[in-house]
Amino acid sequence: MYIPYGHQTIEEDDIEAVVKVLRSDYLTTGPAIEEFEQKVAEYVGVKYAVAVSNGTAALHIACLAAGIGEGDEVITTPITFAASANCVLYCGGTPVFADINPETYNIDPADIERKITKKTKAIIPVHFTGQPCEMDQIYQIAKKHQLIVIEDGAHALGAEYQDKKIGSFSAMTTFSFHPVKPITTGEGGMVVTEDEKLYERLKLFRSHGITREENLMTQNEGGWYYEQLELGYNYRMTDIQAALGGSQINKLDEFLARRQEIASYYDKAFEKNINLVIPKQLDHTKSGWHLYIVQILNRARKDVFEALKNAGIGVNVHYIPVYHHPYYQRNGYQEVYCPNAENLYQHMISLPIYPRMTKEQQDFVIETILKEVEKREETK
Ligand SMILES: *Cc1c(COP(=O)(O)O)cnc(C)c1O
Repeated sequence: MYIPYGHQTIEEDDIEAVVKVLRSDYLTTGPAIEEFEQKVAEYVGVKYAVAVSNGTAALHIACLAAGIGEGDEVITTPITFAASANCVLYCGGTPVFADINPETYNIDPADIERKITKKTKAIIPVHFTGQPCEMDQIYQIAKKHQLIVIEDGAHALGAEYQDKKIGSFSAMTTFSFHPVKPITTGEGGMVVTEDEKLYERLKLFRSHGITREENLMTQNEGGWYYEQLELGYNYRMTDIQAALGGSQINKLDEFLARRQEIASYYDKAFEKNINLVIPKQLDHTKSGWHLYIVQILNRARKDVFEALKNAGIGVNVHYIPVYHHPYYQRNGYQEVYCPNAENLYQHMISLPIYPRMTKEQQDFVIETILKEVEKREETK
């Protein structure tokens, strides 16, 4: 029995939705795209959504639409998937890492403020594990320094901050539909926004920078005519993917409720153990529980990790601080050191969590981890 750390939930109706598109006239740029975009926009509570080929492409076009370029600094967290910072590099900008809050593991607003320079143009907060960042403080800082906020919501579709869905606050928020994420389209991503101008720019960057919309073109030479206004990409999502997404989002609340249940069960099993730290949740937030992270305090993280792996439990470490990676080390980040991120990285393990995980599987994970932690305690 192998228990993965995350897994998609695909049911008959998801399959039917995909097959229906395969039998239709449009495999890409068809009606399923707009339907899916509208569903997500409605769910989140925003006007506009732009579906793209993956979550990284979503971050890339969000940075492009925000006008991030050479000489611009963008502040993000080191405890994230590399794409949250890479998207800035794609645009010629410089990612700057602010440390995390040691209790929520999310970017620390106070450290954001310390990292601001004259060159700072934007902040990319990541709702790590699905728990919303402290957005009130982040907005205050952004307003004071006139910075654009692009939320990386890859873990947080359906998560809530002060009773509002993540994605309904900032200039732009991005989502990912990779199979382990809250809902899946195989590969896929989306940017949501309230701003019509950003929406138009996002659509341009998604598809080669080309438009056929007359109000955007400089002239119109006839029915065949289109113009390339920006250097864009082919980041389009297919209708096949969008159909799957449109079916998946109907079940998102169910998935989230199940993830919440699993997280609470882990919390209860671990909260009294002095060698384990469970993830603290802020009062006014509702996490999407993309990940469940436990910290192993008795310096046994590596051993416990290996033991869990050997027992067939798909544990993981999310994440290696981004600036540790050789690419970053080679490119000017040797001196970067975020103490709270480093400390978390020493102790953290991501445990399996996904809607279809059974109680038996979860009991096995809990039993194994408690046994392994206790064993290390005895031999200390
Ligand atoms: C998954 C993920 C991404 C990238 O999404 P892809 O769809 O895999 O390209 C970006 N940021 C974070 C935090 C992620 O977890």
